[in-house]
Amino acid sequence: MANPDGGTLAVYVDRMRRAQVELQRQKIDLLLLGPSADLYYLTGFKAHLSERLNLLVLPREGDASMIVPVLEAPLVADRGDLLNIHAWEETQAPADLVSQFAGDVRGKRVAVGDQLWSVFLLRLQEAMPGASWCPATPVMRVLRMIKDGREIELLHEAGRRTDDAWQEFITLGIAGQTEAQAIERLHGLMKARGLEGGWGICASGPNSASPHHHTGDRIIQTGDAVVFDFGGTLEGYFSDVTRTLHVGPPGEEFRRVYDIVLSANQAMLDAVQPGVPCEQLDEAARDLIAREGYGAAFLHRVGHGLGLEVHEEPYLVGGNALPLAAGMVFSDEPGIYLEGRFGVRIEDAVLCTDTGGERLNEATRELTVVS
Ligand code: ZN
Ligand code: ZN
Ligand code: ZN
Repeated sequence: MANPDGGTLAVYVDRMRRAQVELQRQKIDLLLLGPSADLYYLTGFKAHLSERLNLLVLPREGDASMIVPVLEAPLVADRGDLLNIHAWEETQAPADLVSQFAGDVRGKRVAVGDQLWSVFLLRLQEAMPGASWCPATPVMRVLRMIKDGREIELLHEAGRRTDDAWQEFITLGIAGQTEAQAIERLHGLMKARGLEGGWGICASGPNSASPHHHTGDRIIQTGDAVVFDFGGTLEGYFSDVTRTLHVGPPGEEFRRVYDIVLSANQAMLDAVQPGVPCEQLDEAARDLIAREGYGAAFLHRVGHGLGLEVHEEPYLVGGNALPLAAGMVFSDEPGIYLEGRFGVRIEDAVLCTDTGGERLNEATRELTVVS
């Protein structure tokens, strides 16, 4: 049976089965997921996130159930071969329905998706006393971190289209525009290439020293460093790229900082190898930046997993000993931020292959001067 995303239900049947294997391995009895990337990954169903409960109930053995509000049941009707669909009426208490399908959970372990609202979790806990509750991420990340061939192709294609939009963008001047206008133009170029959900940060001049700056009305001017961190989605899979431009000729220190960040981006890529702990990628970039005297100005981890969410497991951060594995896709985004002056960040998505890291972005990393 075809689904709107061009895949087949067989993909989801397989993912559901693998989730059950993982429940078995981690000695968890039941998995509960609300509207989230986790739910979409397992079922292909984009459930509404609202005050009405939508919930996947997946036992360690046996069939999955989907609890849906009656008015949203038609949205999941094409998934009847994958899930037992149970629609609840406006006057029913959906938590009681969940408890009915879950059976007696006393003494059992129930894993709950990270993004299930507390209001639902509290009601479920009340309706299902005696269970012990744990997060679902240790189960879901085992599946979601390792991308299959189709996921890799989508991430790569999203990356290519984003790069292509950027290559056109840098032929256009940005001086005199506000940050918001510049990002809007970039979004237009991405949209024209079939990317949805364009998102992004434009941080100009001193704002570029703030890694998660809120794009605003500052007018971009000659002499500015400008950080663009942006992307979109292709069939739900994200691109995430950062490039730093200079408006007019840059000074000596900007050039020096730019070269250091570029070298750190390369050092991180060179460190990618299956089996290497995540934290070692962070170290590879951080040690290089520290050696050059800017250690204190690298304010964030070097990267994060990329897939159905723009930030997901694995996180490439000090203290994360998780070993890399072929099929993981994550960002490589070192930065240096000099408060009140400028910042530089260069970010690509990287695929871990059997033999090392492969970039999924090839937008130019050369220092680019625009007008
Ligand atoms: Zn970020
Ligand atoms: Zn980014
Ligand atoms: Zn990122």
